[in-house]
Amino acid sequence: MRSYSLIAPAKINLYLEIIGDRPDGYHELVMILQSINLADHIELRSISTDTIRVHCNHPQVPLDQSNLAYRAAELITLEYPNAFAQYGGVEITINKKIPVAAGLAGGSSNAAAVLVGLNMLWQLGLTQPELQDLAAQLGSDVPFCISGGAAIATGRGEQLSYLPTMDSLYVVLGKYRSIAVSTAWAYQTYRSEFGSEYVYDAKTLESRASKVHSSPLVNAIFHKDSQQIGQLLRNDLERVVLPVEPKVAQLREVFASTDVLGTMMSGSGPTIFALTESEAQAHQVQQAVRAAIPDPDLELWAAKFSNHGVQLNSKTKHL
Ligand code: ATP
Repeated sequence: MRSYSLIAPAKINLYLEIIGDRPDGYHELVMILQSINLADHIELRSISTDTIRVHCNHPQVPLDQSNLAYRAAELITLEYPNAFAQYGGVEITINKKIPVAAGLAGGSSNAAAVLVGLNMLWQLGLTQPELQDLAAQLGSDVPFCISGGAAIATGRGEQLSYLPTMDSLYVVLGKYRSIAVSTAWAYQTYRSEFGSEYVYDAKTLESRASKVHSSPLVNAIFHKDSQQIGQLLRNDLERVVLPVEPKVAQLREVFASTDVLGTMMSGSGPTIFALTESEAQAHQVQQAVRAAIPDPDLELWAAKFSNHGVQLNSKTKHL
């Protein structure tokens, strides 16, 4: 039996701007995505039956076709039926460390790991751009999760321009265990509340999207100006999530009152993150937030910016 173990990192959004609707029903977005070293571990193992099986240690993660990791494996079996016939089925074991439904792309990263892992397990020989084309069929964040690092993402989020990574920065994350936000709900609510601000003309959409390349935040990233980066964070979805989740809004205020470079909600939330310049500072912020909100429902993590997407876990052998 052959097996591969992979590391599937989470991402945060340093920037998320909604600029309009797309004919395919998705939103036209401008995002800046950054990988962090909070990661799930994914094990892929060939099995003799022609099935896809998913195991996960987290009770909220589905094990059926609705699991994004399952869908990634299914997509490969449909695209490469000969490899599926030759190698048989696959067992996917997900060791969840990334909080679920948190705006950190946990499911997308798992799907990315399955694409990368099956490419190796079934010796498909696909290049990273080819894997990213497949990934775009599974979800907007999946192509980024394959490569990771830092990138501007436009279109649905699948068109990527890479940025230099600032892997010296740290991030503190906070999420209430009992609060989950549906990404679909967040975008639909945004459309119904703020759709009148959308840009519809194709030319204006294009120029709004390309503006990000010369934006102050991208400039700050190129100059590794962490103070500026902290000040220029943006997430339009805060406009719909914070008003209906007062505990999340309060958590953001507590983060903002500590000594951080900046704080923001990630993706569709409800995770709030704050940036710091050092690991010691990240731990101090974590302790200060814990002291201000001693609620055991609040989980906190300290992590580091990372310039990696999915990686083979070097500690695990390829049997
Ligand atoms: P994104 O930031 O990409 O919008 P998210 O971090 O908000 O994603 P996920 O953790 O990916 O959210 O989970 C969203 C939903 O998807 C969950 O409610 C869960 O039921 C479902 N799901 C399907 N597959 C997975 C997976 N492999 N890991 C986590 N959740 C999954």
